[in-house]
Amino acid sequence: ERIISAGQMENEEIEELSLRPHKLSQYIGQDKVKENLSIFIQAAKMRNESLDHVLLYGPPGLGKTTMAQIIANEMGVQFKQTSGPAIERTGDLAAILSSLEAGDVLFIDEIHRLPKAVEEILYPAMEDFCLDIVIGQGPSARSVQLDLPPFTLVGATTRAGLLTAPLRDRFGVLSRLEFYEVKDLTAIVERTADIFDVEIDGLAANEVARRSRGTPRIANRLLKRVRDISQVRGESEISLETTRKALEMLQVDDSGLDHIDHKLLLAMIDSFKGGPVGLDTLAATVGEESQTIEDVYEPYLLQQGFIQRTPRGRTVTPKTYEHFNREVPQT
Ligand code: ADP
Repeated sequence: ERIISAGQMENEEIEELSLRPHKLSQYIGQDKVKENLSIFIQAAKMRNESLDHVLLYGPPGLGKTTMAQIIANEMGVQFKQTSGPAIERTGDLAAILSSLEAGDVLFIDEIHRLPKAVEEILYPAMEDFCLDIVIGQGPSARSVQLDLPPFTLVGATTRAGLLTAPLRDRFGVLSRLEFYEVKDLTAIVERTADIFDVEIDGLAANEVARRSRGTPRIANRLLKRVRDISQVRGESEISLETTRKALEMLQVDDSGLDHIDHKLLLAMIDSFKGGPVGLDTLAATVGEESQTIEDVYEPYLLQQGFIQRTPRGRTVTPKTYEHFNREVPQT
């Protein structure tokens, strides 16, 4: 298991619940997204209307689910959660939609993975708050229309481009979550330490933040492991030295890259002379799925300038060679 992978793990879900901020004002970072949403929420409340549908997109672990829950909280409505792959049949979605009350927030994670037929049910539901369902099969099949209460759909996906155009067009608000700045992640680490009731040195918090790939879920996960080691060492406060030691044991390097990042970057250097190499070829070489590389691993490497995308594929940069103490090839 990749310690710094940003994917959800079931046994962490309960813990995540306690770590989640409940108010917009407690949500650290993402200032642009927060500012926009706060205006839209305020306006919807003044008009006594449900909030427009919101699409949140960005790499895993950046706080999309958290933001969806905050939206429901701030609107003072119920929050219902499901995910694209969990809804297999149109009837499943119809059941969820008809259980909604006026104003409720329905959160659909990985919304790009909704089956096509299910997605089509969603169009009239989002647009006109009505449900078109077919009852029966063959010649006796008939279509019925049901009215739905106005509700807010909050969809989450890693990239907006994964959605079909008709689905994307039905969202009134599209917000992209960005990787967090170190100062914001430091604040998140300090907040989490507070919830865990442990003391952490300011420099240690900064170190965890700096090596968390700009991602709160990773920061919280690393903090947990660092806390364990600090506790075993009998520290009253998590120290910088222990933090460094712990991160080294976890094979998280000084830039926050882990063994999978290393595998990817070194494959590009050693097997493809630094690139350009196509995504699928790279995926086959390192034994990961193309989509996982594109959605989970690559965004941070791109943002940090370890990888560049060119029309002919991915290439590494001089920074990558320097990171591995390799000589930058002369062209
Ligand atoms: P996503 O849905 O984008 O995968 P989550 O909303 O599940 O991400 O967030 C992952 C974890 O990071 C949660 O435990 C959450 O508490 C924490 N987190 C995310 N964003 C923030 C934030 N802005 N402030 C504090 N904690 C955050």
